[in-house]
Amino acid sequence: MDCPNCGKWNPDDKTVCWRCQTVLPKPQPKKKRAANFLGLPMWMWVALVLFFVMTTFGQCMLVAPPGA
Ligand SMILES: [Zn+2]
Repeated sequence: MDCPNCGKWNPDDKTVCWRCQTVLPKPQPKKKRAANFLGLPMWMWVALVLFFVMTTFGQCMLVAPPGA
């Protein structure tokens, strides 16, 4: 992170320039990368698993309803 005032390099954890005490702009956060697995976003996997569980659970309910 270079100081916008004097151009000196500062460590990323510095909030003010060590040379001129200028407040440094916060380093840009790394671009958020959508967490995905095997090319599909995680929410899609969650939806698939939920769908699978619901389907399986529903079949179990049909085969052996509780309290029967
Ligand atoms: Zn500076």
